[in-house]
Amino acid sequence: MEQIIRILYVEDNEYDARNFQRELEKSSLTTSLLTVNTIVEAMSYAEKQDFDIVFLDYHLPGENGLSLLRTIRNRGFSVPVVIITNYADPQVAVEMMQSGASDYIPKSLLNTDGIEQCIRNSIRYSELEQVRKSVELSLKSAEEKLSTIISYTPVILFSVNPNGELTFAKGRNLGSIMPGGDELVGESVYEIFEDHDEFIGQIKIALAGNEVTQSIKFGNTVYQISCTPRMSAKGKVEEVVGIAYDVTKRAEAEESLLKAKLLAEQTSKAKQDFIANMSHEIRTPMNAIIGFTNLLEETTLDEVQKDYVKTIQMSGENLLDLINDILDFSKIEAGKLFIEKEEFVLRDTISSVERVLKGKADEKRIKLIINVDPEVPQHLLGDSNRLYQVLMNLVSNAVKFTDKGKVTVEVNKMSQRDGKVKLKFIVADTGIGIHKDNYESIFESFSQISSGTTRKYGGTGLGLAIVKRLIELQQGRIKVSSKLKEGSTFEFELQYALGKNKDSEMEQVFVETLDLSVFKGKKVLLAEDNRMNQKLIENVLGNLGIDLKVVNNGKEVVDLLQNEVVDILLLDIQMPVMDGFEVANYIRNNIQGPKRNIPIIAMTAHAFKEERDACLKAGMNDHIAKPIQKEELLRIMHHLIVQNAENMEQPMVDISYLKSLSEGNDEFVTEMLTIFSEDTPVLMQQMKVAVDNEDWKKTSQLAHKYRSPLALLGIKPIEEIMNKIEYSAKEKSNLSEIKVLFKEADILTLSALEYINQQLVK
Ligand code: ADP
Repeated sequence: MEQIIRILYVEDNEYDARNFQRELEKSSLTTSLLTVNTIVEAMSYAEKQDFDIVFLDYHLPGENGLSLLRTIRNRGFSVPVVIITNYADPQVAVEMMQSGASDYIPKSLLNTDGIEQCIRNSIRYSELEQVRKSVELSLKSAEEKLSTIISYTPVILFSVNPNGELTFAKGRNLGSIMPGGDELVGESVYEIFEDHDEFIGQIKIALAGNEVTQSIKFGNTVYQISCTPRMSAKGKVEEVVGIAYDVTKRAEAEESLLKAKLLAEQTSKAKQDFIANMSHEIRTPMNAIIGFTNLLEETTLDEVQKDYVKTIQMSGENLLDLINDILDFSKIEAGKLFIEKEEFVLRDTISSVERVLKGKADEKRIKLIINVDPEVPQHLLGDSNRLYQVLMNLVSNAVKFTDKGKVTVEVNKMSQRDGKVKLKFIVADTGIGIHKDNYESIFESFSQISSGTTRKYGGTGLGLAIVKRLIELQQGRIKVSSKLKEGSTFEFELQYALGKNKDSEMEQVFVETLDLSVFKGKKVLLAEDNRMNQKLIENVLGNLGIDLKVVNNGKEVVDLLQNEVVDILLLDIQMPVMDGFEVANYIRNNIQGPKRNIPIIAMTAHAFKEERDACLKAGMNDHIAKPIQKEELLRIMHHLIVQNAENMEQPMVDISYLKSLSEGNDEFVTEMLTIFSEDTPVLMQQMKVAVDNEDWKKTSQLAHKYRSPLALLGIKPIEEIMNKIEYSAKEKSNLSEIKVLFKEADILTLSALEYINQQLVK
């Protein structure tokens, strides 16, 4: 059933009222009509609000229709009101609509169609208006709700428009970042936060289209603030929306954690330094004690004295081992022990172990058997010092805990592919054995199976703990198997990359066969301030026919070299007046002529790689750690003397290729040599600058440039170095080596230039 539309018609003219009624009845609408002719009457009905539409004559006696309309609206009645006018004055129409009329209609149009259409429109309009109002209302209430929630949450929300004006800001602690609170909305953030450059910077970044999060301190509160740009479809920033939340507690926790970490690191570093210093301090006198005991042993002694000397010797060696162990262990614990990757010859490492422990095994009348599978490649890339240390520990344990029978060291190849080889090392003995229950505990630090062990065998219980960690640092694993009273077997596997050098027969005979006659008549200069060490080396080099000169500091070396020629310089690093580095630097850079290239062997307190590298970097040829081992010193000296002799014999420069190019034109040869001798110093100077500035691109270009004259003049050794430098600098690999290589090339270049200049004079 169609709804009845209830109409209130306010009209004082009876004729018009009749006409309206008649026309309305003809319409298709179902309506009920109440006509009143005064405003007072109209008001009393309008108040009851039971009309769907009011028609209101504009011209009413007393008051006009408009004031009635305003009253209706002021009271909050939303019923549609249509004003009936005599004439269609647009001014009046506007005024009526502004006062809240839903429509107006001239009297001339009050016919059936006009009325019907007017009613339909107005009711429709009124319905829409109702919907709009309710939507508006719920929107407002949602907004209020959201705003209330934001105001109570511990975050701050804000937005900024592209002009930098704050368009929104709410949150419980808003006052703590802007004391003006949300009153400041509409103002420029650059002014509001003029004292907070960091925050302004962040907003600028976001306004440029980037999302940024950072922590910023406002007073005592730290806020984590995230700013996100909101982009238009065209990619322009429309506004920046931001959220800030209080992270003071977290920041405080982080800070105290950082402080604690720093403190722990400092403490650990202090401990580390202390241990390193202490072991250094102990090692220096130990060096003398052990050295002199060795010398004492060689003098004529009675049995009791011999016994005492042996005891001193053993205790000294034990103490030195202990110091080294503690130093290593503390380095491992501090995560400061790094595994090197350098080319080494496996056989040499194993021979060193054998050489040191053979004596002990012989003493105990047990066999020490080394068995390296011929399949095992000898040139490997890895840390030979650490392998030496591991084997030394295991083999010396095996010798120590074995009273009869044998100790065997076996090395087998497990697999080889992609330039890598996996080796298995087995150290087996026929000694006292280890109980199953102790398989794990022996690898813990300071652990020995029984307290009697120290008394009987010595040791600290650190050895295997270090071994295990060293193997694990190299991605290997160690395991033990044993039978009490029958013996123990320790096994571990390590993987190595294959070295560049190929194995050759030559190396097999390398070590033990030093030709001592090369030392005869050689001039050796020893620079060492410690009297005991001086004496020690004097004795070591005593019977070889060496002409040894001893000076007490670096200054004396420099002075002596002004007038004398020496074959080898043994240079202590820590000396008064002028230390070893200063001396090396002076010789390599300030001395002219062949003396500039004299072989220098550094003597340092530790065998650390860093020390060795520093010595090589300073232009020294080799390095030996104290306490000086006779054999090692002789080996190094031998090598340098032989190498130097070879260098002397065959000139580094081979101009035969150049000559063949010249086809007998000597002028051409001279011209080329002259160009080389003029250009090379300039080129080397440029390269020095590039290397010093670590400008690798330039370094690689210059090395490349230098290579062609080198090839032309057949200067192979320098050419090879330039090749390496060019490659390393280009690939940015082994950069630390470049400086060492350059130094070497610099020295060689000087020799080459000297040779060429001599040729030119001839
Ligand atoms: P230490 O310095 O005491 O030798 P290690 O850590 O090298 O310390 O060894 C720990 C303990 O493991 C030794 O004290 C010994 O009891 C036992 N041990 C190690 N190697 C052997 C072995 N080859 N035979 C028997 N016992 C061994």
